Amino acid sequence: MTTMNQQILLASRPAGEPTASNFRLVQTPVGEPADGEVLVRHHYLSLDPYMRGRMNEGKSYIEPQALGEVMGGGSVGEVVASRNAGFAVGDKVVGMGGWQEYQLVGASQVATLQKVDTTHIPLAAYLGAVGMPGVTAWQGLTQIIAPKAGETVVVSAASGAVGGAFGQLAKTRGARVVGLAGGPEKCAYVTRELGFDACIDYKLHKDLESLGGALKSACPGGIDGYFENVGGMTLDAVLLHSNTFARIAVCGMISGYNGEPIPMLHPTLILVNRLKLQGFIVTDRLDLWPAALQELGSMVASGKLKYRETVAQGLASAPEAFMGLLKGRNFGKQLVKLV
Ligand code: NDP
Repeated sequence: MTTMNQQILLASRPAGEPTASNFRLVQTPVGEPADGEVLVRHHYLSLDPYMRGRMNEGKSYIEPQALGEVMGGGSVGEVVASRNAGFAVGDKVVGMGGWQEYQLVGASQVATLQKVDTTHIPLAAYLGAVGMPGVTAWQGLTQIIAPKAGETVVVSAASGAVGGAFGQLAKTRGARVVGLAGGPEKCAYVTRELGFDACIDYKLHKDLESLGGALKSACPGGIDGYFENVGGMTLDAVLLHSNTFARIAVCGMISGYNGEPIPMLHPTLILVNRLKLQGFIVTDRLDLWPAALQELGSMVASGKLKYRETVAQGLASAPEAFMGLLKGRNFGKQLVKLV
């Protein structure tokens, strides 16, 4: 009997918030690997905020997702058939297989598949703490913010895949770490489980004065580094309490991903405080990935780096889970479990 591959395609481009109608679930037969090819069965898919940007047409730091094609994205799984000497049936791999149950990896794309060791690190962690989000946190910390022991750093979306890793890595460098997260449950997790020094529930602060006041109390010595994940009022509040020569790593601005404008009220403070403000994309520095993965992998294996996952079940749940991610319904790394 022919095995079928369920896939989710981009059916149309969203105007504002994505809806279920932007996605289409289809089934196609799973092909047999030809010479040099590998067939991977996906166990987990990664859902990431950057996918929202790829649903738009137009210039960005990454090519737009083509209409009618399988939604792209990170995946982990197991080799189920191979005609490539580098991969054997049973190998666990991480790749960019996208929103589908199987990926037939062509000979020219095999280099994008990496074999991973699941002896001490769970397979799904290669999509989170020991994968792209972890490396993102590591790069922003070590390449841009570079805190000295005793300095205060702040991170938004602190309970998430990137933010959680950032704060824990910063603690290992002796920094004082303050997070911002949405809701008391996420904040309690950030301080009690992840070991941050403080966490501000930004949803309790509806205006700049209130949020700025909360940051001032949580950072009595001012802010030396900020890892920006959300944009908007949070950035302004951080600018108001930044110290001279503070560093801001602009990693993401999720509050604007559906096209919302993100005004900035106090850019003059960049000059006044001689701030370094640098945007970065984790794939620009592939040379740094091995060192980052080394540190992240050993911290996860030894239990020093903690993380949380929200796991949607089955491919058909991916669009809803993705839409939830953009609204903060996830708690930690958002995954879709297929096997
Ligand atoms: P998360 O696991 O942190 O999930 C996203 C979180 O963003 C939500 O849980 C929610 O947390 C928060 N959020 C959503 N909407 C808003 C809003 N309007 N205002 C404030 N917070 C909001 O995702 P990731 O860890 O995967 O990604 C975090 C950031 O890092 C994103 O901006 C992403 O685009 C960026 N990124 C950038 C990379 C790069 O190379 N530059 C690479 C990877 C990620 P809460 O409930 O706390 O509000």
